[in-house]
Amino acid sequence: MIGRPNDLDEARELLAVACRVLFRLGLVDYMGHPSLRIPGSDLILIKPRHSTRIGAQDAIPPERMAVIDLDGRLIAGTDPPPGERFIHTAIYQARPDVGAIVHTHQPMATVMGIAGEPIQPILHVQSELVSEPIPVWECARLVTDAALGADLAQTLGTQRICHLRGHGIVSVAESLPEAVINAIHLEQLAEAAWRVRAMGARPRVIPPDEIEQRAATGSGWAVRWHYYTETTDTP
Ligand SMILES: [Zn+2]
Repeated sequence: MIGRPNDLDEARELLAVACRVLFRLGLVDYMGHPSLRIPGSDLILIKPRHSTRIGAQDAIPPERMAVIDLDGRLIAGTDPPPGERFIHTAIYQARPDVGAIVHTHQPMATVMGIAGEPIQPILHVQSELVSEPIPVWECARLVTDAALGADLAQTLGTQRICHLRGHGIVSVAESLPEAVINAIHLEQLAEAAWRVRAMGARPRVIPPDEIEQRAATGSGWAVRWHYYTETTDTP
């Protein structure tokens, strides 16, 4: 099934596509990293740490992706994992339901958090993602050890998005396409709010009954994933 790899090779291909989509939409640069659980194992496949060897995220070959265990140790790969791998390891340990994680420093969502402005449901398709307030991790440190990761995972709780104040966001989902699409939707919501505020207006917050009705219609994540993979296929 699209977006749900059967083995390590398919997971590598999917992760490379996710890196490309996130990069070409401007949600990551050399920083930020997606990951997913390797099917049938307790291991994680993650974008490797940036270096002069790695280059831009839209051109990382699938075979360069790093395999790590749930303690963050490199199991297989030519390049080390990111310093902030503990975001991923801690959340996978705390959330058996999570199959994929995206961490970004995406511009608009990060700015909204710095300003202390909640990202609210103001766009129809994207609103369902933020129908509940997003938890905020009040710490701008790099998540470079297990204790910081566990603290962040606790703040995320059972939610799909966590804001890292002065840093970025984390998006978690059952599959990697869903985690990527939710990060995209979050950025679209933040940008719309910023534009409305720039006009001197206050955005209309969509009420729960309208969000519920909208969620029952329209296309699912698989169709959206197809769109984003197709439209980011060339630079
Ligand atoms: Zn970060």
